[in-house]
Order: sequence, then C-alpha cells, then structure tokens
Amino acid sequence: MADRHNRDLDRKPGPLPEPIKTKTVDSHAHLELIHNSEPDSPLIKQTLDQAASVGIDRVVQVGYSAEQSIWSVKCAESFVGQVLAAVALHPNEAPVVDDLEKDLKIIEELAANPRVRAIGETGLDFFRTPEELRDKQKYSFARHIKMAKDHNKALVIHDRDSHRAVLDLLIQEGAPDKTIFHCYSGDQFISRCTADAMTTAAASIAEGNLVAFPTETVYGLGADASQESAVAKIYTAKGRPADHPLIVHISSMDGIGYWADEISEYAIALARAFWPGPMTLICKRSDAAKDFITGDKRPWAYEYLITLLL
Ligand SMILES: [Zn+2]
Repeated sequence: MADRHNRDLDRKPGPLPEPIKTKTVDSHAHLELIHNSEPDSPLIKQTLDQAASVGIDRVVQVGYSAEQSIWSVKCAESFVGQVLAAVALHPNEAPVVDDLEKDLKIIEELAANPRVRAIGETGLDFFRTPEELRDKQKYSFARHIKMAKDHNKALVIHDRDSHRAVLDLLIQEGAPDKTIFHCYSGDQFISRCTADAMTTAAASIAEGNLVAFPTETVYGLGADASQESAVAKIYTAKGRPADHPLIVHISSMDGIGYWADEISEYAIALARAFWPGPMTLICKRSDAAKDFITGDKRPWAYEYLITLLL
C-alpha cells in the first residue's frame, strides 16, 4: 500500500512562493503525503499555517482510499475553518483493493459526515488500469456518483485516458448537480462535449432549429418558444397533434413574468422552493405565449425550468 500511496517517498516541501493577493482555496490537496503523519499532527498545522501565510487559507483534503479517507475526515475535524474533506476510492485503488464492497461501505458512512463536502477523487483511469479491471473501476465510479447524489455533495472526478467512458457513465447514472473535473486531462474533447456543445446548442436554437436534451425522465426536443416555424418543427418531428400544448422552459424566475399573467403567490413560493428542478407550473398565459405553443386558444401557458444534466 505504501508504494501505491507514495508515502515513503522523500518529499521535502519547496520554499514558500510569493503571497497571492486574493485569499484562495486549494480545492485538491493530499496533505498526508507531505509528512506521513497523524491527521491532527502539529506538522499538518504548520503546513496549513504556511499555506495561509501566502494566501491559501482553506484546503480541501481529498481522499483516495478508505484508510486515507478516514484520515481526511479526521484532519477536517481537527482543523475546522481551515480544512474540509472529500472521500472516495481513487480509480486506481478501487479495482485492486482486497474487499471493494467493504471499502465502499466505509466511504458511504464517511460521506454523511458534515465535514465531508465532496465525493472524490473518483472516476476512471484507463492509463493505469488494464482492460480486465475496468468493469470494476466503472462499478466503483457509478457507486460514487450515486453517493454524491444521495448525500447532495459535489463529485470530484479523476479522468485519465477515459474521457468518453467518464461522460457515458455520467449520462447513464445522471450527473450530480455539482460535478468537478479535478484533473483536466481531456484536451478539447470534453470541452466540446460540455461548454462548446452548450454554445452550439444555444446558437442552433436561436437559428430556429431543434435541439435534443436530457430531462429528469426521457430526452426532450426543444426549440425557441417565440419562433412559430421553430415550434412547428417540434410538432412535425414528434407527430404531435396540433392541439396538444407544449411546455415553455425558462432559465430564471424572471421568465415567469414574461410568459404568464396573474401569477399567484403560492406559484411563486413553489417556484422558489423547487426550481431549479423538475416542476411544471400551469399559469394563465401572457400575450407572449402564442397559440402555436399552447395548441389552441385556451388561456393557459405552461412554465417549466430546465435543469441541465451535464
Ligand atoms: Zn488527487
């Protein structure tokens, strides 16, 4: 284990750098690798104080094994105000531990600790993992995705040479609201699948085209709700009867006032409580919600706030 965790290596900290001007959080630290000490050791305190002296006043201590995740939580409990913990089995660790289920159970128990703010680092690493162990690695990653969602914590992903498989599993399992790629190894591949894809989709909608997107149940087809010809494409593509209304998705609370009139106070209270999320409000439509959206002349508009899954 010591070899894999690099704990026996002689790692002497370098000299302190120039202080940075703005207080900064180190979102991914492995403090135990510096001193190979107990989590509440004065050596750790010294390191944290040195970091604070150059502007890094808070640290997320990231777990990669069951044993070391326990260490991370104890460290976060020992240095409240300076350290928070993330817990997980590293993708290189998960396929080779003696008892994966036992270790996942330990991580699951640690995940409930209030000092734990993230599940990570988890993910996939096909660079170091032979073909025959990858199913086990994927299984562990899926379990960690579920833990992040069950405990409403951020997911911290390690991805090395496995970009497509990481995205596939996130789509298959449903990504948590807060998902972080800690080690950005994906060149432009993943950015094309995320930020660039969003820009392309937004441009396509503005041009009057259709875009498919995942919802909390099945995939949806979307178009600009203000363009009659674009909305007509949805009816054509789905073979939807012309008198069946469509839902309008909005991106902020301001959208309610644009698409609907006479919005009741309880509707606003519901929106504040449940948006962003899969809740539809049925309201009296405003002049902006034309017949080509509502399907006929009934005085209703349909409001819904989209939750992005990626
Ligand atoms: Zn790491």
